[in-house]
Amino acid sequence: MLIYPSVESLLYYAQSHLLLDDLDVVWARNLILDELKLTDYVQYEVDYEAIESLDRPDTVLAPLVNYAVDNGIITEDKREYFGGKLMNIVCKRPGEIADIFDEQHRKNPVKAFDWLYDYGVKSDYVKLTKIGENIKWEAKGTRGKLEITINTCRPEKNNKDTEAALKATKSGYPACTICKENEGYAHGSQIRQTLRTVPLELGGEEWFWQFSPYAYFNQHGIAVNSEHVPMKVDDSTIVKLFDFIDFMPGYFIGCNAALPRIGGSVLTHDHFQGGAKLMPMHKAGALVKLKNKEYPYIDMCIVDWYNSVLRLACSNREKLIEFAQKVNNAWQDYSDESVGVIAKTSEQHNAVTPIVRKADDKYVIDIILRNNRTTDEYPDGIFHAHPEYHNIKSESIGLIEAMGLFVLPGRLARQTAEIEKYLTKEEKYSEAKLAPDMLCHKNMIERLVKAVGSSKISPVEAKLNIKDEINRVCEEILVNTAVFKPDEQGKAAFLKFLATLDIAEK
Ligand SMILES: [Zn+2]
Repeated sequence: MLIYPSVESLLYYAQSHLLLDDLDVVWARNLILDELKLTDYVQYEVDYEAIESLDRPDTVLAPLVNYAVDNGIITEDKREYFGGKLMNIVCKRPGEIADIFDEQHRKNPVKAFDWLYDYGVKSDYVKLTKIGENIKWEAKGTRGKLEITINTCRPEKNNKDTEAALKATKSGYPACTICKENEGYAHGSQIRQTLRTVPLELGGEEWFWQFSPYAYFNQHGIAVNSEHVPMKVDDSTIVKLFDFIDFMPGYFIGCNAALPRIGGSVLTHDHFQGGAKLMPMHKAGALVKLKNKEYPYIDMCIVDWYNSVLRLACSNREKLIEFAQKVNNAWQDYSDESVGVIAKTSEQHNAVTPIVRKADDKYVIDIILRNNRTTDEYPDGIFHAHPEYHNIKSESIGLIEAMGLFVLPGRLARQTAEIEKYLTKEEKYSEAKLAPDMLCHKNMIERLVKAVGSSKISPVEAKLNIKDEINRVCEEILVNTAVFKPDEQGKAAFLKFLATLDIAEK
């Protein structure tokens, strides 16, 4: 197979989309040839217009990676690694990217982030095609829509992978998967040759922004502390979130609670999550309008949402920060045993998840109240997904899910297809025949099979039944995480807490 036109296509793609300088083309071509173990070259014409219209590099990159596999240059498992290596040759370097971003940011922050994101997609760092394979739908919900995604992007790790990962010697470099040292790093599953970050200054500290390669929503990314220091949510965190919003008013930005079971997956490294998306919770209105005499200009309400959210909005940044800090500090120590909230035992249990954005020229901060206490009955947390829902989701409910965007494990794609067969009666259900990894769904399957009864349903109906069940579970999980339940008793308890801050019903 003639590989030269493919090399030429990638080079022209990079000139069109990745700002590859004309003066760098010969150099880049020779580096690519070296990777392909070629020493000769003949220049071919390629379909320039088609290449100009591409929105991602898949079609220009794949032939080169295939060539490398077919010719024994790489093994099958090194496809992503090799693809990243080639793209890195034709991409701008981190410093150049930061300079271009900075120049654009001075004129228009939103456009600068759009550009950076587009560069991430065009350089194959953001895996748009993979992300597109996720299964997504909307659930109506009783208090506003939920968005549900079955995340098929990343293949599930099997036992063999886990074992291999355990055996692999950990050098401690990079210290974690979001450290600055990952820029350009490529080892194991951490393929980051084309990662490009831009610097941020938050609360007087050096931070940086990077997009997520397997985004859950549009322009999903993280703001990361340049130092590998643990997560925390204190007065300075609130300031940093506002600093970010001043830097990028088009995004929301939120910080996970800094405690296990109610935070995100990375607690060892201080970071925020954000992006260009109005989350389901953001669309929820007021359940109870509130006021505080000392801060009459701050709009406040309990949000009509599944878990416990206090919303504050104001155009005065300093006053809003000050009040949000008071709420955070008050919650740290607040207990109400009548609803099971105990701030601390031998360890801290109360924490908040603050999320900041701008709307109608006002700053808006949503403060989700969380608690991570466990009991014998709920060893994973009283305010965590209860055990009967772990077949759908057992990982901790971080801020993205708390705001109503559920990311469910990829295994569900396969498992729900299996359950479908029982409902359409393509296969007869029997507990004894359940595969080991289907056992967790036993109760759910039996409930669904019973509901269908002897009637015959189509695969489409079966799918809908399963989705309805997943929708219901996601809603229940959110209610599980509510420290004040969305009922009358919960509302009264919520108001009792707010009274300690001199907040009363309007
Ligand atoms: Zn780190």
